[in-house]
Amino acid sequence: MDNKLKKKSFCKWGKENIKTNIADVIDLTTKPKYVCQKCARVARRKSNVCDPYGLTKKKKKA
Ligand SMILES: [Zn+2]
Repeated sequence: MDNKLKKKSFCKWGKENIKTNIADVIDLTTKPKYVCQKCARVARRKSNVCDPYGLTKKKKKA
């Protein structure tokens, strides 16, 4: 697949990009480490979400 796309945030992928690269989407979202704070998408790589927040970093309960 297009390497540029692979490094692009999922938030910016078009519908067609997702459809034609679904195998990569599965690969990049398996065992996610980051969640996007803007669109709630998850990814294993930080570069695949536009506003990454580490999933291991848990917010303290008030
Ligand atoms: Zn996002």
